Amino acid sequence: MKLYKVKKSNIDKRGLYASKNIKSGTKIIEYIGKLISKKETETNPKFDNEKDIYLFNLNSKYDLDGDYSWNTARLINHSCNPNCEVEGKGLKLWITTIKDIKKGEELSYDYGFGYDVDYKQFPCKCRSQNCVGYIVREGSRWRINKKFNKNNLRINK
Ligand SMILES: [Zn+2]
Repeated sequence: MKLYKVKKSNIDKRGLYASKNIKSGTKIIEYIGKLISKKETETNPKFDNEKDIYLFNLNSKYDLDGDYSWNTARLINHSCNPNCEVEGKGLKLWITTIKDIKKGEELSYDYGFGYDVDYKQFPCKCRSQNCVGYIVREGSRWRINKKFNKNNLRINK
């Protein structure tokens, strides 16, 4: 039995939801796509800007392009408080739970976008308490928080 269901999502159009209670550390679904060389990623215009959403860095030579309808894992949304992560094993990527998940909860992971790309292109609608409003990797979110705090201070004065 599959551990997930595709459903309409509050975060984006569609998302993946737990079809039963799932323990932390469980592999949910493989993130599948086409293996492409770094050279191709750099030269093919397909991989400009927004297409990066489905592009995973596998190693120094290869990326995985997951922008295909048969890659169900691409429907998993980003969250600032995710319950899954992408686990790389060799040339394979698995979406694995990092928390115990209850049946009916939406699955999410940190898309890991850098702050350096234009983060304002990617608003986040995850509604977590710690949501910074944009899809930015956890390690870079303080930069956005810092910016917001500065603005708040200015308004308060
Ligand atoms: Zn968020």
